[in-house]
Formats: sequence, structure tokens, C-alpha cells
Amino acid sequence: MTEFAFPPPPPPSVAVAGTTQRFPVHRIYCIGLNYADHVREMGNDPQAAPPVFFMKPADAVVANGAAIAYPSVTGNFHHEIELVVALARGGRDLAPARALECVFGYAAGNDLTRRDLQAAAKQRGQPWDTAKGFDQSAPVGAIRPAALGHVTRGRIWMSVNGTLRQESDIAHMIWDVPHVIAELSKLYELRAGDLIFTGTPSGVGPLQPGDRLEGGIEGLEVLRNSIAPGAGA
Ligand code: MN
Repeated sequence: MTEFAFPPPPPPSVAVAGTTQRFPVHRIYCIGLNYADHVREMGNDPQAAPPVFFMKPADAVVANGAAIAYPSVTGNFHHEIELVVALARGGRDLAPARALECVFGYAAGNDLTRRDLQAAAKQRGQPWDTAKGFDQSAPVGAIRPAALGHVTRGRIWMSVNGTLRQESDIAHMIWDVPHVIAELSKLYELRAGDLIFTGTPSGVGPLQPGDRLEGGIEGLEVLRNSIAPGAGA
């Protein structure tokens, strides 16, 4: 038996809808710029780009209902509602036609972003890690098992303090779920426990301490989080 120098932390996990079981998180992958309207609002051409992938640490997951501290070193902290795909198995170079066989289930997630740090990184040609992969940057609702159906269409939305900010349809993704999995599996060996954030529609915008966030995808648990009041920017 392995003797650790100190006790390892418990594995990050996400609730599974309808059970007391938890989904243990291995890695969190994200695709950027996957809805044409959001690609345009970020100043890019939706036809031009191959998929852009980045990662968040597994322990960036935040439970549904939790309060999130306003992060340090940003004055432009943004929400991004996204469909999250959870994998039950993985592999390399997966064919799109077989990719859905890897899916454990689906959840609503929020790809929280330090937009000002992302803009600076883009301008300087630097990595996005501090803009995307920070503490508490990945709220995820309960995962609905794929046995209840795959998510290929349906309303996706986010409201802040009761005001609708983002609204689109899953069917408007440029790269659909099978192709996101297939493209990602060219770059990484995918594993059980991986979460994939599949991109956000237009309407991303700033958050403030005290804000109440509600985000949803048709048929999945509504994701509710708040930004802790009084936290300093
Ligand atoms: Mn995103």
C-alpha cells in the first residue's frame, strides 16, 4: 500500500441526478468559441477557426447552490453558461460515430472567466490559464445520466438577479458533442471522469459581489450560485 507523505485530498466530484452517488472528476476540458453568435461578439470569424481547447483544474468544480468568492486580480469577472459532458470511458482518436458511447451524462455548467486577464493574454499571445483555470471557476449542476437521453438540442440560458443574459439552443453549437469528443481525443487520451465544457452562446457579461446566478439547459438540473457578498475585487 502506498505511503503518502501527507494525506491526499479527496477527489473532486459532482452530484449524479437521482442517486446519492458522486461522479469523480479526472480532468476538466473546455472548448472555446463554439456558438457562432459568441464567436462574433468576441471579434472572430465563426467559419475560420478549428476548435480551441483549454483546461481547468479538477478541483475548480463548485457544487450547485454554493457561494463563489469574487476572484482576485480581476475587475471583469464573467459568466458563461455551457453544456457539460461527463465521460464514463475514453480513449484516443475516437470516431465521431462512436463518441457518444463514452458519455456518462450531461449537466449545466458555468465557465467562469477573468475576462480582463483573458483579453491581456490574447493580446500578448500568452496562455489563458490564469483567466480560465482558477479556484472555483467551474460550477457544475447534477449530472443527468445519458441513459435518459443524449442532449442534441434544447434551450440554454443564464440569468443574473432575475435578468436574462444568455439564451440560445444547444443545436446551435458549431462543433456538436460527438465532434467535440472526437477532436479532443486527437490531443489527449480521454478517461472516465473527464468533464468537457462545450462552449457558451452570446450574452456573456460581468458579475458583482452579491449577484444571484441561475443557468439552465432544457431537461437538466438548474444551476444556481451566488457571488459572495462583500468579497473584494
Ligand atoms: Mn467557455
